[in-house]
Amino acid sequence: MASETISNPNLDSTLREDRIFPPPAEFAAKAHVGSLTAYEELYRRSIDDPEAFWAEAAQELEWFAPWTRVLEWNQPWAKWFVGGKINLCHNCVDRHVQNGKRDKTAILWEGEPGEVRRLSFAELHVEVQKFANVLKGLGIQKGDRVAVYMGMTPELAIAILACARIGAVHSVIFGGFAAHAIVDRVNDSQCVAVLTQDTSYRRGNEVKLKATVDEALPQCPSVKNVVVYQRSGSAVTMQEGRDYWWHELMATAAAECPAEPLDSEDPLYILYTSGTTGKPKGLVHTTGGYAVGTYLTSKLVFDLKDDDVYWCSADIGWVTGHSYVVYGILQNGVTTVMYEGAPNHPGPDRFWKIIDDHKVTVFYTAPTAIRAFIKWGNEHVAKHSLDSLRLLGTVGEPINPEAWMWYREVIGKGRCPIVDTWWQTETGAIMISPLPGAIAAKPGSATRPLPGILPEVVTRTGEPVPAGQGGLLVVRKPWPSMARTIWGDPERYEKTYWSDIPGSYFTGDGARIDQDGYFWLMGRVDDVINVSGHRLGTMEIESALVAHARVAEAAVVGRPDEMKGQAISAFVTLESGNEPSPELKDELRAWVAKEIGALARPDDIRFTDQLPKTRSGKIMRRLLRDLATHGEIKGDTTTLEDFSVIAKLREQDE
Ligand code: ATP
Ligand code: MG
Repeated sequence: MASETISNPNLDSTLREDRIFPPPAEFAAKAHVGSLTAYEELYRRSIDDPEAFWAEAAQELEWFAPWTRVLEWNQPWAKWFVGGKINLCHNCVDRHVQNGKRDKTAILWEGEPGEVRRLSFAELHVEVQKFANVLKGLGIQKGDRVAVYMGMTPELAIAILACARIGAVHSVIFGGFAAHAIVDRVNDSQCVAVLTQDTSYRRGNEVKLKATVDEALPQCPSVKNVVVYQRSGSAVTMQEGRDYWWHELMATAAAECPAEPLDSEDPLYILYTSGTTGKPKGLVHTTGGYAVGTYLTSKLVFDLKDDDVYWCSADIGWVTGHSYVVYGILQNGVTTVMYEGAPNHPGPDRFWKIIDDHKVTVFYTAPTAIRAFIKWGNEHVAKHSLDSLRLLGTVGEPINPEAWMWYREVIGKGRCPIVDTWWQTETGAIMISPLPGAIAAKPGSATRPLPGILPEVVTRTGEPVPAGQGGLLVVRKPWPSMARTIWGDPERYEKTYWSDIPGSYFTGDGARIDQDGYFWLMGRVDDVINVSGHRLGTMEIESALVAHARVAEAAVVGRPDEMKGQAISAFVTLESGNEPSPELKDELRAWVAKEIGALARPDDIRFTDQLPKTRSGKIMRRLLRDLATHGEIKGDTTTLEDFSVIAKLREQDE
């Protein structure tokens, strides 16, 4: 599929969206970038002289030694801030302790059962130094890989900051993955230790993290030690000589551990992608450039101010959690909220209660969560005021315009700008997003590129496509937070991202640019549907379905069809209180034809309670395509959230 799209990348666009929401004047007046002109000037300057632009941003951080060159670029190999010495933990923690924020809350944590912990920057400083000494005490050195398989606890943030402090390379493995996912990831990068916890709480149940580690480790010969944070106190087995309790090691750890002056290009972490399009890839991020990219994008996109209480609901197991729960936010010295559990425990209003209880000002979540909130009903939102909010964000998938409108009206009360942020594990930081005080939003568009970023929509040979026409989304210039390679497989890195389109980083996503220069993400090029010679992105047909009052969520895929090349299969979940019926199928098919044209009318519609998703909440269309085409699943399913969804879909098939 991918290669077919790459050979003919032009996509037909069907979405018509003309609503536009300028930044509220009051918001713009206080914003870091407060007008379209200011954005355009900044952007122009950043593209005319990217090195000067990025160097200026880097100067807002603390370096132990200056760089001698901003960029050394030998496509696809980048070195940023060459020769510079920096420590990201120092910039997240020590810098604020030294600059008057000792007592300010750095991490505001809420457990699923309801307990609250606040760690000030000074307290976080104590914890990361001690835990860095714990790591050293286990013989872990700069460059060693350390797997982190924990729940959303402050200790997870402490663990990765402590690795960053001594130059150990962390590899966070999402705490919901099964043992074989640990085995694959730990072995791929030869981790020497695993940091975990006894259990974590999810929807009132205990997730047995340590037991899963025990199941994995017999197949992981590189692992010498396991450190276990005691979260719940549930019984676990400890293997003598290999396993240690976090609190016991901390009790005797020395209090001081200076931050290691690391080379700007020393690796910071390895992180595997979500697996939406195939087998996950272990991307490597390095220190200096990643620090600068996450710092600057957090500041500009979330318009961060000292008094913000910022909450990103993503798990630290995903790149969003790395960049926008921990590193980008703490570098800005802003309070970051962490929540341990499920959005619907004990009730579907848990998130809104958290926002009111802690006076959250900036909230960042995913379209999948927004669609779930819509499905659960507005009455749960109505119980809370949400008065403290001033800015909303989304990430992870294209957001359907109707979900965007709901987010704006029901959560943002029409008052809060929304930043729809497009980026990837590979990009390390946000790439395309409105600056909320400068750029008018259009529902469903990630709007315009951030300063320093030069994305384009092109043909296979790298020619820009005309406005309004779909094509391949690429990035033309290197940027500091870009991944440097795939761990242990530089060839795969080069081949996956840098060989399809001459001179560009290829994102794997389809997009179009409108007459105002706004980017519209159309879906994965792997998922493009080819109907009678027209090439359709999935996003627009799905958005048309979601715009129907009874539809909560939709995924469309192509299946082979003798007449048309491909036929369109739609999988639809209904809003609560609606029953599937043949009449509703006809109605939905007619609805899509009316909304966006007969060409996009689904050939068949299947109702389902749930769609197959990755653990990060993204729709896995490739599995639906397998199912629609062959009646069975062929691709990699290691990051699938819930296997029973596939079984149920198959039953309905019969
Ligand atoms: P894999 O690469 O293993 O298939 P993945 O691409 O889902 O997994 P991530 O790096 O977590 O892994 O996700 C990045 C992708 O998510 C982007 O390429 C894009 O398709 C999608 N995405 C993220 N944010 C947005 C957004 N705001 N609008 C549209 N798409 C988005
Ligand atoms: Mg990807």
